[in-house]
Amino acid sequence: MIIDVHAHYDDNAFSEDLNSCLERVKEAGIGYVINAAVDYETSVKSIELAKKFDNVYCVLGIHPEYAETYSSEVLGKISNLIENEPKAVGIGETGLDYYWLPKDKPDEVLRLKALQKVNFIEHIRMSESLRLPLVVHDRDAHQDTLNILKDNVSGQVENVLHCYSGSAEMVRDFAELNMSFSVGGVLTFKNAVKLAEAVKVMPRERILIETDSPYLTPVPYRGKRNDSSYTVYTARRMAEILDVSYEYICELTTDNALRVFGKLH
Ligand SMILES: [Zn+2]
Repeated sequence: MIIDVHAHYDDNAFSEDLNSCLERVKEAGIGYVINAAVDYETSVKSIELAKKFDNVYCVLGIHPEYAETYSSEVLGKISNLIENEPKAVGIGETGLDYYWLPKDKPDEVLRLKALQKVNFIEHIRMSESLRLPLVVHDRDAHQDTLNILKDNVSGQVENVLHCYSGSAEMVRDFAELNMSFSVGGVLTFKNAVKLAEAVKVMPRERILIETDSPYLTPVPYRGKRNDSSYTVYTARRMAEILDVSYEYICELTTDNALRVFGKLH
């Protein structure tokens, strides 16, 4: 069994064939899928998906690209959804994303970075108070992500860096904060040398597998729509890189996911 710890089945890419797609996912041996919300609206949709499909669970929160939709009231509503839904297994995705910032407008960059920071810190507080794992999105913001986590997490909750894209050196820093690392289809790309090196130094009990469906499809389907059944390609590549069996990777990452996302049981 494999657990896909990060997907977006509420995306329009699945509007035509979601039922058959999730059926295929189940047949491929993917036991559970965790759908990640990006704002309040997708939080509501994620709950609907979790209620409709027995293999779908969810994490709820506000993605840094949607940080402008953050308010303590909206986050309070998301917190309520989580507390009332047994299949809401964590908080996210949230974090920092500097990739899309308008680099030609320095004032706007500062404003958006400040908003993302507040949004991120409030999600960390929620994760600490609900004792549920935080799913962190970090794109082109490794150092700030690390600093904010360092200043704000207690280390009591096991959190997740989704779609890890940092260096092997940073794996150590994040692992010290009790973080796990979820690895996606990028691992199968020919030029993913840095990620392969990072995977080699990740503590084994902290490695997870994800798709980020419908994005980041692994080879040999790169460029097509991603779905959780393709985690097998990521798992196979991971087995090659770590020089272990495919079965070992499935078992390891499943055990890790069940531990980190305790509500999956
Ligand atoms: Zn995502």
